[in-house]
Amino acid sequence: MSGYFQPSYSAARKAFLRGVGADSRLSWQRTVQHPLHGAEGEKLAMDVAWLGPVNADKLLIVQSATHGVEGFAGSAIQSALLHQCEALPQGTALLLIHAMNPWGFSHKRRVDEAGIDLNRNFVDFNHRPENRGYEEIHSALIPQHWDQASLLQADQRLQDFREVYGAQIYEEAVSGGQYTHPAGLFYGGKAPSWSRVQLEQLAAELRLAERKQVAIIDVHTGLGDYTVGEVICDHPPGSLGVQWAKHWYGTAVTEPFLGTSSSVPKLGLIDFFWHQLLPDRCCFVTLEFGTGSTEDLFNVLRADHWLACQPFGSVSEDLKQQIHQQLLEHFCPAAEDWQQEVIRQGLLRVSQALAGLASL
Ligand SMILES: [Zn+2]
Repeated sequence: MSGYFQPSYSAARKAFLRGVGADSRLSWQRTVQHPLHGAEGEKLAMDVAWLGPVNADKLLIVQSATHGVEGFAGSAIQSALLHQCEALPQGTALLLIHAMNPWGFSHKRRVDEAGIDLNRNFVDFNHRPENRGYEEIHSALIPQHWDQASLLQADQRLQDFREVYGAQIYEEAVSGGQYTHPAGLFYGGKAPSWSRVQLEQLAAELRLAERKQVAIIDVHTGLGDYTVGEVICDHPPGSLGVQWAKHWYGTAVTEPFLGTSSSVPKLGLIDFFWHQLLPDRCCFVTLEFGTGSTEDLFNVLRADHWLACQPFGSVSEDLKQQIHQQLLEHFCPAAEDWQQEVIRQGLLRVSQALAGLASL
């Protein structure tokens, strides 16, 4: 099953388009071209396929690569779904969005071409939220130099912050989203990103707000325990969205607002777009496949963001290679057991979502 994993964005895109082209359920397809080129000079696009009846009241959406480099897992699940080509329940359609952030997928970065974390970008930019904790530790997260002495000093500052405020506030400060440091971690931007604009246009064109019941699975990697596919639900506690999620996905469901998730509550999530578009008519979950510790996650991102700030030619090839390799291995481990679990659990959650929609 790990054969669905591809080595690059362009290979993943080709596999997706091949699968779509051969799928008898296909009723509509769109390529949303990105203005830039990819790491191999290839064209970049958000590819969209609608399978099943175009006027379906019930809809399952599977999104990949909201965080570029995390797209290998989501793309592999989408390819497996196309390969399976199982009949959809009556009156139900399946919408696949391949590469929400194609630039990040191709360049193997979590952010987009503007350094924006798409999953912190869904805020009202007239009232941008503040994250004072992040402002306090930004220069320790991304120190000027990436040598042992500088890192020891920076890590000590982070440790001091954590000891004063506690682990939860530290994690929220680092990863909850910030809107002041464009080169920093988990930066939500100053305006809607390219991907957000495309998603909003797509939703209008496909009249998604008129659908009666919608399930969305957004596939992510890199947070949580190795091979665990956590079903993270950021609907308000007790809301219909949470009730559907628990009914469909069982005990795998966790809630950041209740402290039961490996994710802390965050600003500007893509979830909030769907919650607003389909109030009490959708169940959005982040299917997050763990690969290691949160500390590892922060450290690979710190190195990646530090590298992105350096003038061209100023960093040795060895160090560049090491930083890229560690990032890729964190977000898409090469180990077969991990990749097999991603496909197995991904297909399971999709079939549970389809059964859940059918039961409403
Ligand atoms: Zn992610």
